[in-house]
Amino acid sequence: MAEAEIGLIGLGVMGSNLALNIAENGHRIAVFNRTTSRTGEFHAQAGSLQDMVVPCETIEDLAAAIRPPRPVIIMVQAGQAVDEQIAHLRGVLSENDIVIDAGNANFHDTMRRFKDLENSGLTFIGMGVSGGEEGARHGPSIMVGGTEASWKRVEKVLTAISAKYEGEPCVAWLGTDGAGHFVKTIHNGIEYADMQMIAEIYGVLRDGLGMGPKEIASVFATWNKGRLNSYLIEITASVLAADDPKTGKPMVDMILDRAGQKGTGKWSAIEAQQLGIPATAIEAAVAARVISSLKDERVAAEKAYGMGVSPVSGNRDAILADLELALFAGKIAAYAQGFAVMSAASEEFDWNLPLPTIAKIWRAGCIIRSQFLDTIATAFNAGPVANLLMAPDFVQMMKEANPALRRIVARAAEAGLPTPALSSALAYFDSYRLGRGTSNLIQAQRDFFGAHGFERIDADGAHHGPWGSGAAG
Ligand code: NAP
Repeated sequence: MAEAEIGLIGLGVMGSNLALNIAENGHRIAVFNRTTSRTGEFHAQAGSLQDMVVPCETIEDLAAAIRPPRPVIIMVQAGQAVDEQIAHLRGVLSENDIVIDAGNANFHDTMRRFKDLENSGLTFIGMGVSGGEEGARHGPSIMVGGTEASWKRVEKVLTAISAKYEGEPCVAWLGTDGAGHFVKTIHNGIEYADMQMIAEIYGVLRDGLGMGPKEIASVFATWNKGRLNSYLIEITASVLAADDPKTGKPMVDMILDRAGQKGTGKWSAIEAQQLGIPATAIEAAVAARVISSLKDERVAAEKAYGMGVSPVSGNRDAILADLELALFAGKIAAYAQGFAVMSAASEEFDWNLPLPTIAKIWRAGCIIRSQFLDTIATAFNAGPVANLLMAPDFVQMMKEANPALRRIVARAAEAGLPTPALSSALAYFDSYRLGRGTSNLIQAQRDFFGAHGFERIDADGAHHGPWGSGAAG
Protein backbone atom coordinates (compact mmCIF):
# COMPACT_ATOMS: atom_id res chain seq x y z
CA MET A 1 0.00 0.00 0.00
CA ALA A 2 1.23 3.52 -0.83
CA GLU A 3 2.42 5.72 2.00
CA ALA A 4 -0.02 7.97 3.80
CA GLU A 5 0.45 11.75 3.85
CA ILE A 6 -1.13 12.29 7.22
CA GLY A 7 -2.17 10.34 10.31
CA LEU A 8 -5.10 10.49 12.72
CA ILE A 9 -5.57 9.05 16.20
CA GLY A 10 -9.11 8.64 17.54
CA LEU A 11 -11.90 7.29 15.37
CA GLY A 12 -14.82 8.61 17.43
CA VAL A 13 -17.58 10.79 15.98
CA MET A 14 -15.25 13.63 15.00
CA GLY A 15 -12.12 11.68 14.12
CA SER A 16 -13.79 9.18 11.81
CA ASN A 17 -15.62 11.89 9.88
CA LEU A 18 -12.56 14.10 9.68
CA ALA A 19 -10.53 11.14 8.36
CA LEU A 20 -13.09 10.48 5.60
CA ASN A 21 -13.13 14.19 4.74
CA ILE A 22 -9.31 14.18 4.44
CA ALA A 23 -9.35 10.99 2.36
CA GLU A 24 -12.07 12.33 0.09
CA ASN A 25 -9.96 15.38 -0.58
CA GLY A 26 -7.22 13.19 -1.99
CA HIS A 27 -4.91 12.82 1.02
CA ARG A 28 -4.13 9.23 1.97
CA ILE A 29 -4.58 8.93 5.73
CA ALA A 30 -3.27 6.43 8.28
CA VAL A 31 -5.65 5.90 11.20
CA PHE A 32 -5.36 4.45 14.71
CA ASN A 33 -7.91 4.00 17.47
CA ARG A 34 -7.36 2.81 21.06
CA THR A 35 -10.07 0.19 20.64
CA THR A 36 -8.55 -1.51 17.62
CA SER A 37 -11.75 -3.27 16.52
CA ARG A 38 -13.11 0.20 15.72
CA THR A 39 -10.22 0.76 13.30
CA GLY A 40 -11.15 -2.35 11.34
CA GLU A 41 -14.84 -1.41 11.33
CA PHE A 42 -14.03 2.09 10.17
CA HIS A 43 -11.88 0.81 7.31
CA ALA A 44 -14.50 -1.73 6.29
CA GLN A 45 -17.15 1.00 6.16
CA ALA A 46 -15.01 3.50 4.24
CA GLY A 47 -16.60 2.39 0.96
CA SER A 48 -15.01 3.98 -2.09
CA LEU A 49 -12.48 5.72 0.16
CA GLN A 50 -11.03 2.45 1.47
CA ASP A 51 -7.88 2.74 -0.64
CA MET A 52 -7.21 6.17 0.81
CA VAL A 53 -7.31 4.88 4.39
CA VAL A 54 -4.48 2.92 6.02
CA PRO A 55 -5.74 1.14 9.16
CA CYS A 56 -3.07 0.76 11.86
CA GLU A 57 -3.10 -1.52 14.90
CA THR A 58 -0.49 0.42 16.86
CA ILE A 59 0.87 3.95 17.02
CA GLU A 60 4.21 2.52 15.85
CA ASP A 61 2.44 1.19 12.71
CA LEU A 62 0.80 4.58 12.26
CA ALA A 63 4.15 6.38 12.31
CA ALA A 64 5.63 3.86 9.90
CA ALA A 65 2.73 4.26 7.49
CA ILE A 66 3.16 8.03 7.06
CA ARG A 67 5.71 9.66 4.77
CA PRO A 68 7.99 12.02 6.77
CA PRO A 69 7.71 14.77 7.75
CA ARG A 70 4.54 13.42 9.32
CA PRO A 71 1.52 15.42 10.37
CA VAL A 72 -0.54 13.48 12.95
CA ILE A 73 -3.95 14.66 14.11
CA ILE A 74 -5.09 13.67 17.60
CA MET A 75 -8.90 13.65 17.88
CA VAL A 76 -9.59 12.05 21.26
CA GLN A 77 -11.31 13.10 24.45
CA ALA A 78 -9.73 16.33 25.73
CA GLY A 79 -7.42 16.23 28.75
CA GLN A 80 -5.32 13.32 29.97
CA ALA A 81 -5.98 11.23 26.84
CA VAL A 82 -4.28 13.88 24.68
CA ASP A 83 -1.21 13.95 26.94
CA GLU A 84 -1.01 10.15 26.70
CA GLN A 85 -1.13 10.24 22.90
CA ILE A 86 1.53 12.95 22.76
CA ALA A 87 3.79 10.99 25.11
CA HIS A 88 3.42 7.92 22.91
CA LEU A 89 3.98 9.89 19.70
CA ARG A 90 7.19 11.42 21.10
CA GLY A 91 8.66 7.93 21.12
CA VAL A 92 7.81 7.11 17.50
CA LEU A 93 7.92 10.40 15.58
CA SER A 94 11.04 12.17 14.38
CA GLU A 95 12.44 15.65 13.76
CA ASN A 96 10.03 18.01 11.94
CA ASP A 97 6.95 15.86 12.41
CA ILE A 98 3.82 17.80 13.45
CA VAL A 99 1.44 16.82 16.24
CA ILE A 100 -1.97 18.43 15.85
CA ASP A 101 -4.46 18.34 18.72
CA ALA A 102 -7.84 18.87 17.07
CA GLY A 103 -10.07 18.18 20.10
CA ASN A 104 -11.66 20.75 22.39
CA ALA A 105 -8.60 21.33 24.54
CA ASN A 106 -8.45 23.92 27.27
CA PHE A 107 -6.08 26.51 25.78
CA HIS A 108 -3.97 26.51 28.96
CA ASP A 109 -3.21 22.82 28.24
CA THR A 110 -2.40 23.73 24.65
CA MET A 111 0.06 26.40 25.80
CA ARG A 112 1.71 23.92 28.14
CA ARG A 113 1.96 21.24 25.42
CA PHE A 114 3.30 23.78 22.95
CA LYS A 115 6.03 24.70 25.42
CA ASP A 116 6.78 21.08 26.31
CA LEU A 117 7.34 20.19 22.67
CA GLU A 118 9.20 23.39 21.79
CA ASN A 119 12.68 21.91 21.91
CA SER A 120 11.73 18.32 21.13
CA GLY A 121 12.16 18.58 17.36
CA LEU A 122 8.40 18.04 17.00
CA THR A 123 6.04 20.87 16.14
CA PHE A 124 2.76 21.30 17.97
CA ILE A 125 -0.46 22.76 16.63
CA GLY A 126 -3.59 23.29 18.74
CA MET A 127 -6.55 23.42 16.43
CA GLY A 128 -10.22 24.02 17.19
CA VAL A 129 -12.67 22.22 14.92
CA SER A 130 -16.35 23.11 14.88
CA GLY A 131 -19.33 21.76 13.02
CA GLY A 132 -20.09 18.49 14.77
CA GLU A 133 -20.31 15.25 12.85
CA GLU A 134 -21.62 16.78 9.64
CA GLY A 135 -19.01 19.55 9.65
CA ALA A 136 -16.16 17.12 10.26
CA ARG A 137 -17.32 15.01 7.33
CA HIS A 138 -18.10 17.70 4.78
CA GLY A 139 -16.32 20.84 5.92
CA PRO A 140 -15.79 22.21 9.43
CA SER A 141 -14.68 25.64 10.56
CA ILE A 142 -11.05 25.31 11.67
CA MET A 143 -9.23 27.61 14.09
CA VAL A 144 -5.48 27.06 14.04
CA GLY A 145 -2.94 27.97 16.74
CA GLY A 146 0.80 27.38 16.44
CA THR A 147 3.77 28.92 14.68
CA GLU A 148 3.12 30.52 11.30
CA ALA A 149 5.68 28.15 9.77
CA SER A 150 3.81 25.08 11.05
CA TRP A 151 0.54 26.51 9.70
CA LYS A 152 2.13 26.88 6.26
CA ARG A 153 2.95 23.17 6.31
CA VAL A 154 -0.64 22.08 6.95
CA GLU A 155 -2.46 24.93 5.21
CA LYS A 156 -3.11 23.01 2.00
CA VAL A 157 -4.82 20.00 3.57
CA LEU A 158 -6.76 22.06 6.13
CA THR A 159 -7.96 24.44 3.42
CA ALA A 160 -9.11 21.49 1.33
CA ILE A 161 -11.18 19.93 4.12
CA SER A 162 -12.63 23.14 5.57
CA ALA A 163 -16.11 24.55 4.98
CA LYS A 164 -16.41 27.23 2.30
CA TYR A 165 -18.45 30.43 2.56
CA GLU A 166 -19.09 31.72 -0.94
CA GLY A 167 -15.86 30.01 -2.01
CA GLU A 168 -13.76 31.34 0.89
CA PRO A 169 -12.28 28.61 3.14
CA CYS A 170 -13.37 28.70 6.77
CA VAL A 171 -9.92 28.03 8.18
CA ALA A 172 -7.28 30.42 9.41
CA TRP A 173 -4.11 30.64 11.39
CA LEU A 174 -5.10 32.79 14.37
CA GLY A 175 -1.88 33.08 16.36
CA THR A 176 0.69 31.12 18.32
CA ASP A 177 0.28 28.35 20.91
CA GLY A 178 -3.23 28.43 22.44
CA ALA A 179 -4.84 30.95 20.06
CA GLY A 180 -6.83 28.39 18.05
CA HIS A 181 -8.19 26.56 21.08
CA PHE A 182 -8.99 29.82 22.86
CA VAL A 183 -11.03 31.04 19.90
CA LYS A 184 -12.78 27.66 19.69
CA THR A 185 -13.64 27.94 23.40
CA ILE A 186 -15.19 31.38 22.91
CA HIS A 187 -17.00 30.07 19.83
CA ASN A 188 -18.58 27.49 22.12
CA GLY A 189 -19.32 30.10 24.79
CA ILE A 190 -21.19 32.18 22.22
CA GLU A 191 -22.92 28.98 21.09
CA TYR A 192 -24.11 28.41 24.68
CA ALA A 193 -25.54 31.96 24.79
CA ASP A 194 -27.16 31.62 21.36
CA MET A 195 -28.79 28.30 22.32
CA GLN A 196 -29.94 29.55 25.73
CA MET A 197 -31.56 32.67 24.26
CA ILE A 198 -33.35 30.55 21.65
CA ALA A 199 -34.58 28.27 24.46
CA GLU A 200 -35.81 31.29 26.44
CA ILE A 201 -37.79 32.54 23.44
CA TYR A 202 -39.17 29.01 23.03
CA GLY A 203 -40.26 29.21 26.69
CA VAL A 204 -42.20 32.44 26.07
CA LEU A 205 -43.86 30.89 23.03
CA ARG A 206 -44.66 27.61 24.81
CA ASP A 207 -45.59 28.76 28.31
CA GLY A 208 -46.46 32.42 27.78
CA LEU A 209 -48.40 32.13 24.53
CA GLY A 210 -49.47 28.48 24.91
CA MET A 211 -48.19 27.43 21.50
CA GLY A 212 -47.47 23.82 20.56
CA PRO A 213 -44.16 22.53 19.15
CA LYS A 214 -45.34 22.43 15.53
CA GLU A 215 -46.63 26.00 15.72
CA ILE A 216 -43.38 27.15 17.31
CA ALA A 217 -41.44 25.24 14.64
CA SER A 218 -43.11 27.27 11.94
CA VAL A 219 -42.33 30.52 13.78
CA PHE A 220 -38.62 29.60 13.86
CA ALA A 221 -38.75 28.45 10.23
CA THR A 222 -40.14 31.88 9.27
CA TRP A 223 -37.52 33.68 11.35
CA ASN A 224 -34.84 31.62 9.63
CA LYS A 225 -35.67 33.48 6.42
CA GLY A 226 -34.97 36.85 8.03
CA ARG A 227 -32.29 38.54 10.11
CA LEU A 228 -31.99 35.53 12.45
CA ASN A 229 -31.08 33.21 9.57
CA SER A 230 -28.62 30.70 11.03
CA TYR A 231 -27.90 27.03 11.49
CA LEU A 232 -29.12 27.06 15.11
CA ILE A 233 -32.50 28.62 14.19
CA GLU A 234 -32.81 26.18 11.28
CA ILE A 235 -32.22 23.12 13.48
CA THR A 236 -34.51 24.52 16.19
CA ALA A 237 -37.34 24.54 13.64
CA SER A 238 -36.50 20.97 12.58
CA VAL A 239 -36.22 19.71 16.15
CA LEU A 240 -39.58 21.23 17.13
CA ALA A 241 -41.28 19.70 14.09
CA ALA A 242 -40.05 16.16 14.80
CA ASP A 243 -42.19 13.43 16.38
CA ASP A 244 -41.03 10.72 18.75
CA PRO A 245 -41.12 7.40 16.85
CA LYS A 246 -41.91 5.61 20.13
CA THR A 247 -44.95 7.58 21.30
CA GLY A 248 -45.91 9.65 18.26
CA LYS A 249 -45.79 12.75 20.49
CA PRO A 250 -43.62 15.78 19.67
CA MET A 251 -40.04 14.64 20.30
CA VAL A 252 -39.11 17.81 22.18
CA ASP A 253 -41.88 17.15 24.72
CA MET A 254 -40.40 13.75 25.51
CA ILE A 255 -36.93 15.09 26.30
CA LEU A 256 -36.00 15.73 29.92
CA ASP A 257 -35.24 19.42 30.56
CA ARG A 258 -31.77 18.77 31.94
CA ALA A 259 -28.94 20.11 29.77
CA GLY A 260 -25.49 18.56 29.61
CA GLN A 261 -22.20 20.37 29.17
CA LYS A 262 -18.63 19.37 28.52
CA GLY A 263 -16.79 22.45 29.78
CA THR A 264 -16.14 24.92 26.98
CA GLY A 265 -18.97 27.24 28.08
CA LYS A 266 -17.65 27.24 31.62
CA TRP A 267 -14.09 27.85 30.38
CA SER A 268 -15.35 30.84 28.36
CA ALA A 269 -16.97 32.33 31.46
CA ILE A 270 -13.87 31.65 33.59
CA GLU A 271 -11.52 33.21 31.04
CA ALA A 272 -13.82 36.22 30.64
CA GLN A 273 -13.67 36.72 34.41
CA GLN A 274 -9.90 36.24 34.46
CA LEU A 275 -9.52 38.86 31.74
CA GLY A 276 -11.94 41.25 33.47
CA ILE A 277 -14.36 41.29 30.55
CA PRO A 278 -18.11 41.03 31.17
CA ALA A 279 -19.57 38.08 29.29
CA THR A 280 -22.86 37.99 31.15
CA ALA A 281 -24.93 36.29 28.44
CA ILE A 282 -22.41 33.43 28.28
CA GLU A 283 -22.24 33.21 32.09
CA ALA A 284 -26.04 33.19 32.30
CA ALA A 285 -26.21 30.41 29.70
CA VAL A 286 -23.75 28.27 31.66
CA ALA A 287 -25.66 28.92 34.91
CA ALA A 288 -28.95 28.08 33.18
CA ARG A 289 -27.58 24.65 32.22
CA VAL A 290 -26.51 24.12 35.83
CA ILE A 291 -29.96 25.09 37.15
CA SER A 292 -31.53 22.85 34.52
CA SER A 293 -29.60 19.92 35.97
CA LEU A 294 -31.24 20.46 39.40
CA LYS A 295 -34.42 18.81 38.19
CA ASP A 296 -35.54 17.33 41.50
CA GLU A 297 -34.92 20.57 43.40
CA ARG A 298 -36.85 22.52 40.76
CA VAL A 299 -39.80 20.18 40.96
CA ALA A 300 -39.84 20.55 44.75
CA ALA A 301 -39.53 24.34 44.51
CA GLU A 302 -42.43 24.49 42.06
CA LYS A 303 -44.58 22.77 44.68
CA ALA A 304 -43.27 24.99 47.50
CA TYR A 305 -44.01 28.26 45.68
CA GLY A 306 -47.04 27.16 43.67
CA MET A 307 -46.83 30.25 41.48
CA GLY A 308 -46.72 28.77 37.99
CA VAL A 309 -46.50 31.01 34.95
CA SER A 310 -49.01 33.65 33.84
CA PRO A 311 -50.00 33.89 30.21
CA VAL A 312 -48.43 36.63 28.10
CA SER A 313 -51.39 38.52 26.70
CA GLY A 314 -51.66 41.08 23.94
CA ASN A 315 -51.58 41.20 20.16
CA ARG A 316 -49.95 37.93 19.12
CA ASP A 317 -48.41 39.25 15.89
CA ALA A 318 -46.87 42.17 17.76
CA ILE A 319 -45.50 39.84 20.44
CA LEU A 320 -44.04 37.51 17.79
CA ALA A 321 -42.40 40.47 16.04
CA ASP A 322 -40.96 41.58 19.38
CA LEU A 323 -39.67 38.09 20.14
CA GLU A 324 -37.80 37.95 16.84
CA LEU A 325 -36.23 41.35 17.38
CA ALA A 326 -35.51 40.63 21.06
CA LEU A 327 -33.60 37.50 20.09
CA PHE A 328 -31.64 39.51 17.57
CA ALA A 329 -30.77 42.19 20.13
CA GLY A 330 -29.72 39.53 22.66
CA LYS A 331 -27.57 37.91 20.00
CA ILE A 332 -25.81 41.20 19.25
CA ALA A 333 -24.98 41.67 22.94
CA ALA A 334 -23.73 38.08 23.32
CA TYR A 335 -21.47 38.29 20.27
CA ALA A 336 -20.21 41.71 21.39
CA GLN A 337 -19.21 40.07 24.68
CA GLY A 338 -17.54 37.08 23.02
CA PHE A 339 -15.50 39.27 20.69
CA ALA A 340 -14.57 41.58 23.58
CA VAL A 341 -13.20 38.56 25.46
CA MET A 342 -11.13 37.55 22.42
CA SER A 343 -9.87 41.09 22.00
CA ALA A 344 -8.68 41.18 25.63
CA ALA A 345 -7.10 37.72 25.37
CA SER A 346 -5.30 38.77 22.23
CA GLU A 347 -3.53 41.51 24.18
CA GLU A 348 -2.97 39.42 27.27
CA PHE A 349 -1.36 36.51 25.38
CA ASP A 350 0.19 38.52 22.53
CA TRP A 351 -1.74 36.66 19.85
CA ASN A 352 -2.79 39.51 17.61
CA LEU A 353 -6.09 37.70 16.97
CA PRO A 354 -7.60 38.82 13.66
CA LEU A 355 -11.22 39.53 14.73
CA PRO A 356 -12.59 40.06 11.18
CA THR A 357 -11.01 36.76 10.08
CA ILE A 358 -12.52 34.94 13.07
CA ALA A 359 -15.98 36.25 12.12
CA LYS A 360 -15.33 35.15 8.53
CA ILE A 361 -14.27 31.59 9.34
CA TRP A 362 -17.39 31.18 11.50
CA ARG A 363 -19.70 32.07 8.59
CA ALA A 364 -19.87 28.42 7.48
CA GLY A 365 -19.04 24.98 8.85
CA CYS A 366 -19.47 25.72 12.55
CA ILE A 367 -22.48 25.48 14.85
CA ILE A 368 -22.98 29.26 15.14
CA ARG A 369 -22.68 29.79 11.38
CA SER A 370 -24.93 32.54 10.06
CA GLN A 371 -25.30 35.49 7.78
CA PHE A 372 -24.96 37.64 10.89
CA LEU A 373 -21.26 36.75 11.12
CA ASP A 374 -20.73 38.28 7.70
CA THR A 375 -22.19 41.52 9.08
CA ILE A 376 -19.78 41.28 12.02
CA ALA A 377 -16.81 40.67 9.69
CA THR A 378 -17.78 43.74 7.65
CA ALA A 379 -18.11 45.84 10.81
CA PHE A 380 -14.66 44.83 12.10
CA ASN A 381 -13.12 45.31 8.67
CA ALA A 382 -14.40 48.88 8.58
CA GLY A 383 -11.99 49.83 11.35
CA PRO A 384 -11.13 49.07 14.98
CA VAL A 385 -13.86 49.59 17.55
CA ALA A 386 -13.72 49.25 21.34
CA ASN A 387 -16.71 46.90 21.27
CA LEU A 388 -18.95 45.50 18.54
CA LEU A 389 -21.75 47.61 20.09
CA MET A 390 -19.82 50.69 18.93
CA ALA A 391 -19.54 49.69 15.26
CA PRO A 392 -21.81 52.15 13.38
CA ASP A 393 -23.95 49.43 11.74
CA PHE A 394 -24.43 47.75 15.11
CA VAL A 395 -25.38 51.01 16.80
CA GLN A 396 -28.15 51.29 14.22
CA MET A 397 -29.26 47.66 14.59
CA MET A 398 -29.24 47.85 18.39
CA LYS A 399 -31.18 51.13 18.38
CA GLU A 400 -33.84 49.38 16.35
CA ALA A 401 -33.85 46.10 18.27
CA ASN A 402 -33.34 46.98 21.94
CA PRO A 403 -36.89 48.26 22.65
CA ALA A 404 -38.27 44.83 21.70
CA LEU A 405 -35.73 43.11 23.98
CA ARG A 406 -36.81 45.45 26.78
CA ARG A 407 -40.51 44.68 26.24
CA ILE A 408 -39.93 40.92 26.08
CA VAL A 409 -37.75 40.83 29.21
CA ALA A 410 -40.35 42.94 31.06
CA ARG A 411 -43.28 40.79 29.91
CA ALA A 412 -41.41 37.59 30.74
CA ALA A 413 -40.53 38.88 34.22
CA GLU A 414 -44.17 39.76 34.85
CA ALA A 415 -45.31 36.35 33.67
CA GLY A 416 -42.72 34.52 35.78
CA LEU A 417 -40.86 33.18 32.75
CA PRO A 418 -37.09 32.91 33.24
CA THR A 419 -34.98 34.71 30.63
CA PRO A 420 -31.54 34.77 32.25
CA ALA A 421 -29.47 35.22 29.07
CA LEU A 422 -31.81 37.70 27.40
CA SER A 423 -32.19 39.80 30.52
CA SER A 424 -28.47 39.80 31.24
CA ALA A 425 -27.85 40.82 27.61
CA LEU A 426 -30.24 43.74 28.13
CA ALA A 427 -28.63 44.71 31.43
CA TYR A 428 -25.20 44.58 29.75
CA PHE A 429 -26.42 46.83 26.95
CA ASP A 430 -28.02 49.30 29.37
CA SER A 431 -24.94 49.37 31.60
CA TYR A 432 -22.66 49.84 28.60
CA ARG A 433 -24.66 52.62 26.95
CA LEU A 434 -25.01 54.84 30.03
CA GLY A 435 -22.26 57.38 30.64
CA ARG A 436 -23.20 57.78 34.31
CA GLY A 437 -23.63 54.58 36.29
CA THR A 438 -24.08 53.90 39.98
CA SER A 439 -20.60 52.78 40.99
CA ASN A 440 -19.96 56.10 42.69
CA LEU A 441 -22.04 54.64 45.52
CA ILE A 442 -20.01 51.41 45.49
CA GLN A 443 -16.81 53.46 45.74
CA ALA A 444 -18.28 55.38 48.67
CA GLN A 445 -19.23 52.13 50.42
CA ARG A 446 -15.77 50.66 49.80
CA ASP A 447 -14.16 53.76 51.20
CA PHE A 448 -16.51 53.75 54.19
CA PHE A 449 -15.76 50.21 55.32
CA GLY A 450 -12.27 49.69 53.94
CA ALA A 451 -10.73 53.15 53.38
CA HIS A 452 -10.13 52.12 49.76
CA GLY A 453 -10.36 55.71 48.53
CA PHE A 454 -12.17 57.03 45.47
CA GLU A 455 -11.62 59.37 42.53
CA ARG A 456 -13.49 62.68 42.50
CA ILE A 457 -15.22 64.07 39.44
CA ASP A 458 -13.65 67.48 40.06
CA ALA A 459 -10.06 66.69 41.12
CA ASP A 460 -7.22 64.21 40.44
CA GLY A 461 -5.84 61.73 42.93
CA ALA A 462 -7.28 59.46 45.60
CA HIS A 463 -9.71 60.86 48.15
CA HIS A 464 -11.58 59.76 51.23
CA GLY A 465 -15.09 60.62 52.36
CA PRO A 466 -16.23 62.43 55.51
CA TRP A 467 -17.45 59.18 57.10
CA GLY A 468 -15.83 59.95 60.46
CA SER A 469 -16.15 57.53 63.33
CA GLY A 470 -18.97 55.60 61.59
CA ALA A 471 -16.38 53.96 59.34
CA ALA A 472 -15.59 50.41 60.39
CA GLY A 473 -12.06 50.37 58.94
P1 NAP B 1 -16.12 10.39 20.85
O1 NAP B 1 -17.02 10.07 19.72
O2 NAP B 1 -16.57 10.10 22.22
O3 NAP B 1 -14.74 9.64 20.58
C1 NAP B 1 -13.71 9.72 21.51
C2 NAP B 1 -12.45 9.15 20.90
O4 NAP B 1 -11.39 9.34 21.84
C3 NAP B 1 -12.54 7.66 20.61
O5 NAP B 1 -11.80 7.39 19.46
C4 NAP B 1 -11.86 7.07 21.85
O6 NAP B 1 -11.29 5.81 21.61
C5 NAP B 1 -10.78 8.07 22.07
N1 NAP B 1 -10.28 8.06 23.44
C6 NAP B 1 -10.94 8.43 24.57
N2 NAP B 1 -10.14 8.29 25.62
C7 NAP B 1 -8.96 7.84 25.17
C8 NAP B 1 -7.73 7.51 25.79
N3 NAP B 1 -7.54 7.64 27.11
N4 NAP B 1 -6.73 7.07 24.99
C9 NAP B 1 -6.91 6.95 23.67
N5 NAP B 1 -8.03 7.24 23.02
C10 NAP B 1 -9.04 7.68 23.77
O7 NAP B 1 -15.68 11.93 20.86
P2 NAP B 1 -15.79 13.03 19.71
O8 NAP B 1 -17.14 13.62 19.74
O9 NAP B 1 -15.25 12.47 18.43
O10 NAP B 1 -14.79 14.13 20.29
C11 NAP B 1 -13.39 14.09 20.12
C12 NAP B 1 -12.84 15.47 20.46
O11 NAP B 1 -13.44 16.42 19.57
C13 NAP B 1 -13.19 15.95 21.87
O12 NAP B 1 -12.15 16.77 22.34
C14 NAP B 1 -14.44 16.79 21.64
O13 NAP B 1 -14.65 17.73 22.66
C15 NAP B 1 -14.10 17.45 20.31
N6 NAP B 1 -15.23 17.94 19.52
C16 NAP B 1 -16.39 17.24 19.44
C17 NAP B 1 -17.43 17.75 18.67
C18 NAP B 1 -18.74 17.01 18.52
O14 NAP B 1 -19.70 17.62 18.01
N7 NAP B 1 -18.82 15.75 18.89
C19 NAP B 1 -17.26 18.95 17.98
C20 NAP B 1 -16.04 19.62 18.06
C21 NAP B 1 -15.02 19.10 18.83
P3 NAP B 1 -12.10 4.44 21.95
O15 NAP B 1 -12.89 4.12 20.70
O16 NAP B 1 -11.05 3.46 22.24
O17 NAP B 1 -12.99 4.73 23.13
